Amino acid sequence: MTDETVNIEGAVCAPPLPHDEQIVMGHGAGGRMSHRLIQQAFVSAFQNSALNAGDDAALVMPEHGKLSISTDAHVVFPLFFPGGDIGKLAVCGTVNDVAMLGAKPLYLTAGFILEEGLQMDVLKRVVESMRAAAEEAGVQIVAGDTKVVQKGKADGLYITTAGVGVVRGGVQISGANAKPGDVVILSGSMGDHGIAVLGARGELGFESSIQSDVAPLNHLIEAILDASKNIHVLRDPTRGGLATTLNEIAAQSKVGIILDEQTIPVHPEVNAACEMLGFDALYVANEGKLIAIVAKEDAEKVLSAMKKTRYGEGAVMIGHVAEEPKSRVLLKTALGSTRIVDMLAGEMLPRIC
Ligand code: MG
Repeated sequence: MTDETVNIEGAVCAPPLPHDEQIVMGHGAGGRMSHRLIQQAFVSAFQNSALNAGDDAALVMPEHGKLSISTDAHVVFPLFFPGGDIGKLAVCGTVNDVAMLGAKPLYLTAGFILEEGLQMDVLKRVVESMRAAAEEAGVQIVAGDTKVVQKGKADGLYITTAGVGVVRGGVQISGANAKPGDVVILSGSMGDHGIAVLGARGELGFESSIQSDVAPLNHLIEAILDASKNIHVLRDPTRGGLATTLNEIAAQSKVGIILDEQTIPVHPEVNAACEMLGFDALYVANEGKLIAIVAKEDAEKVLSAMKKTRYGEGAVMIGHVAEEPKSRVLLKTALGSTRIVDMLAGEMLPRIC
């Protein structure tokens, strides 16, 4: 880990201090307490040679190819919610963004901003969740940093992550590559993450069994890339939901995107929650879904490859790309009318990721 790193082999095994059940300012001071926190909370969980080396930066062997690099900050409240927590979200969010360019994610870094008084058990649960998500994705967390701020100056803990991956040869994926005639495929149901976080805050007013969909999608993306060389766009509809993400793509590619409302999967409970709160599920955040825009001749092939994967079982075709109206998303409703679907105007659900 950067400044405050200890070599795993060279670590001094000091007896635990009485403060160790809670984060105290000394854990961020760069001294013995910082070293022990890093060793006990992070290095022991993330275990890899680049991290264990204990230098100022992680040394890794680059693979041949273009690099895909992304970064994220995570401030979700509450820290734990049905289906996930801030740690799983941090790893999956970055893995997914790196993978959306057709890359195999390899390495992550993580920065932790801890509030004085945070229970050590909470930190350890979050770190264990990061470890498990990284293992599932097949990435290593190779560097990190820890800072502690005074009680009241943060909300438990925040995590920033960065990720790097190598783009598969011959792959050219971008939000600017959607072409008229392409088919729009969605990997599963919309709105689960946003509604699960609201449920965890007690803001639904009813008991709900909705789980966040937070998941690493890189293996699903490998299956998509194996199935076709004509994948034009991959993107995860996170904040702002499906509607906002498709508007971004329509604008980048200067095309129209025509959706068929009836084909877009939304869980009945998510629908009910949205109706009650006055939300449209197409604007609610997802953390384990992706949009694939694919050449028409390969769409069936890609769809069936997606359906064979854990996180693509619910994949469906939801629409197509058209020449016109440029930079617009249109929705054909169940009633047979057509309406324009705009970008999310402001903030609908603060601190959901
Ligand atoms: Mg994204």
